[in-house]
Amino acid sequence: MIRTALVTGANRGIGLEIARALSGPAGIRVVAAARRAADADAVATELGGDAVGAALDLLHPFEAARVAERLDERFGGIDILVNNAGIMPAGGILDADLEDFQRCLAVNTVGPFALIRALAPRMQRRGRGRIVNVSSGWGSFAERLGGPVAYSASKAALNALTVSAAAELDPAVKVNSVCPGWVRTRMGGPQATRSPEEAADTPVWLATLADDGPTGGFFRRRQPIPW
Ligand code: NDP
Repeated sequence: MIRTALVTGANRGIGLEIARALSGPAGIRVVAAARRAADADAVATELGGDAVGAALDLLHPFEAARVAERLDERFGGIDILVNNAGIMPAGGILDADLEDFQRCLAVNTVGPFALIRALAPRMQRRGRGRIVNVSSGWGSFAERLGGPVAYSASKAALNALTVSAAAELDPAVKVNSVCPGWVRTRMGGPQATRSPEEAADTPVWLATLADDGPTGGFFRRRQPIPW
């Protein structure tokens, strides 16, 4: 059985490394989703094999959900959803721009919610699914919600979605959050401590969990961390 994974934000950074790792020895067909069709197609070409690109802009969650449903039909089921794409507009409580705040919630939280809603019922019917929400330590209450306010609120809400989804869905569909660490990408900057390849390890592990693997957890370096 060919397994199929949809990875958002697959055109660069951590998402690209997740897509590369899944489409390698793991033998999974990757649907590389990116905001722009040309970027998505370029990744699919680079990955080769049966990888395909899909244009999916999370600023438009309803359209993104429709795209995901069509992909699910086209490939006879998407088994793995990696909600990786994210943005981090600057600003604290007193100076964050309201529109930025809305955009951040749309891309980082509402978009993932729309994709879960589009794909989880089908995963449940097929009796198998893995959903990985790429979150952040800045979305952890236990780590005191650092970073720009829109970002930390959006990642805390994404974590809440993980807990709700894991509780509501059939246990055959495993839903987990991951903090990739501080990573050398456009978002993390050149001073960050981890490479995108290292950062992809835990998301890929969660995406390919065995049937007795965890659900409803938050992980960093394959270890559970507090919410
Ligand atoms: P990058 O900024 O390198 O990549 C972000 C990705 O998200 C890009 O592919 C970008 O596409 C995509 N994206 C942005 N807006 C949209 C949109 N509207 N629709 C679809 N895709 C969109 O970030 P990272 O690779 O570092 O981040 C990946 C994930 O890891 C994010 O969720 C981030 O919050 C999380 N994370 C990163 C950390 C770090 O230190 N780097 C730390 C903790 C968490 P495009 O190229 O078109 O803009």
